[in-house]
Amino acid sequence: MSIFSKIAAGEIPSYKCAENEEFYAFLDINPLVKGHTLVIPRREMDYIFDMEDDELARFEVFAKKVAVAIKKAFPCVKVGQAVLGLEVPHAHIHLIPMQSEKDMNFANPKLNLSSEEMQAIADKIFSMYNV
Ligand code: AMP
Repeated sequence: MSIFSKIAAGEIPSYKCAENEEFYAFLDINPLVKGHTLVIPRREMDYIFDMEDDELARFEVFAKKVAVAIKKAFPCVKVGQAVLGLEVPHAHIHLIPMQSEKDMNFANPKLNLSSEEMQAIADKIFSMYNV
């Protein structure tokens, strides 16, 4: 079972931002900016472009709803989306509130936030989801 499958199943703790039956969203533990969120399918699968078309479409619609919540919680120019998957072999979309293009640079130093700050960020996004 991948680490992200365990997170979606609640076997490993995470800072939950949103969920439905098929997908789960939680904070990236090494955020580039406040509100940096990961969106995953609960179903274990590695490469996003191995997804069937209809599942990929539902995944993106879920990511869109999470992005809307992120933008309300953390006002930004736009929420950027990136797919890397070089570290964790479980499909995931990075959603990153951007003030400028520089915020999407994965070589940037990561923020070091306390668990209280992370929880407050996740709660803020969660409270905006589906509002
Ligand atoms: P990549 O597979 O290249 O998209 O990178 C994996 C991302 O997952 C990185 O940004 C990590 O900080 C993040 N990550 C890894 N483990 C965890 C975890 N347990 N909880 C939250 N984020 C994680």
